[in-house]
Amino acid sequence: MNRREFLMTTAGMALVGVRGAVAAAARYDLVLKGGHVVDPASGLNAVRDVAIADGKIAAVAATIDAGAAQTVDAAGKYVIPGMIDIHSHAGDTKGGPALNIADGVTGYVDAGSRGADKIDDLVAEVKAGPQQGRVLINLRRTGLLPGGELQDLANADVALARAAIARHRDVIIGIKARLSKNVAGNNDVEALRRAQEIATPFGLPVMIHMGQSVSPLSQLMALLKKGDVVTHLFAPPPEAIIDDAGNILPAVVEARKRGVWFDMGHGRGGHFRWDIAEKVLVAGFLPDTLSTDWTPGGRVAQFVDFPTVMSKLMHLGMTLEQVVACATCNAAQVFPAFRDRGTLKVGATADVALLEMRNGAFEFIDNYDGKQTAKQSLFPVGTVLAGKWIPRPA
Ligand SMILES: [Zn+2]
Repeated sequence: MNRREFLMTTAGMALVGVRGAVAAAARYDLVLKGGHVVDPASGLNAVRDVAIADGKIAAVAATIDAGAAQTVDAAGKYVIPGMIDIHSHAGDTKGGPALNIADGVTGYVDAGSRGADKIDDLVAEVKAGPQQGRVLINLRRTGLLPGGELQDLANADVALARAAIARHRDVIIGIKARLSKNVAGNNDVEALRRAQEIATPFGLPVMIHMGQSVSPLSQLMALLKKGDVVTHLFAPPPEAIIDDAGNILPAVVEARKRGVWFDMGHGRGGHFRWDIAEKVLVAGFLPDTLSTDWTPGGRVAQFVDFPTVMSKLMHLGMTLEQVVACATCNAAQVFPAFRDRGTLKVGATADVALLEMRNGAFEFIDNYDGKQTAKQSLFPVGTVLAGKWIPRPA
């Protein structure tokens, strides 16, 4: 729908709302009043009321006066679709999903925490969580190992991984392969080949963790298909996406052209360095998605939470609309499981994040202890999850 059609629809909704007020006291379950709505999927960036009923977005309009069971004053706040974190380890962390909800993250993908051996437990945890979670299965049956799970490929078992996916088609939505030298040694190409072998019969994407690989990045790019995801796009050399002269590698540009996604994956070590991020953005190669690579340790050590990651990219020059798109509608496109989310269009699942932009001096850190001071930062205020208002815990 274009902008004009959108305005017509919201005007119509407002009229329905007024009539509804006469007929029934509480037409809506919840109305977020007077917030600044940023919903890139609708091309909307303006002050609006947002009404929610039966867990869905029911109306978005300049003024919604119909009765609501609950009203939240959102004046002075940004109202955006709940963030979808496509590279997280929240599912494998006790209390992780709830901490993420407090940050405005209403959907996440646990990216490779576990392999076939313990995937049943992880799937059960993720299913029991409050928000929508999905899983990328680690190529290695034992899952992620601190010493590098692909140094020995004997445990990268294709048949076991396929059987795990077949058991959990509703939750496992791809395969994760970490390909840096400290994880895969000389096995990066063969590891990626096996990941694709697992994925093929199911038509699933592979997410690779790039940066500091033994094999040239161009060689790894050639093994990626449409829909695959490259995480850690700001990883410094060796094997960064950009050369010393500031040019994005041709193989990377080609990969994007054929539909490979490029994701941030902030993380803690080896994935995000200020100067590389600056150069990549100057070269005009914006991330498709932002993600945290969330862990409790990273959250404490480097303030790796989603609103801060968005703020870091704004500090580097991306606009609010761009970072919101990366955090919401773009992420929803990458994984079809989230396709009715990442937007505040009428009918979408009512997952909403309320954020506040604060001015001041905020020290941001990269994975190399590099510090920069930003003048603004986004802070979470409250979250709507499937229509239910969850205030930020004090
Ligand atoms: Zn990760």
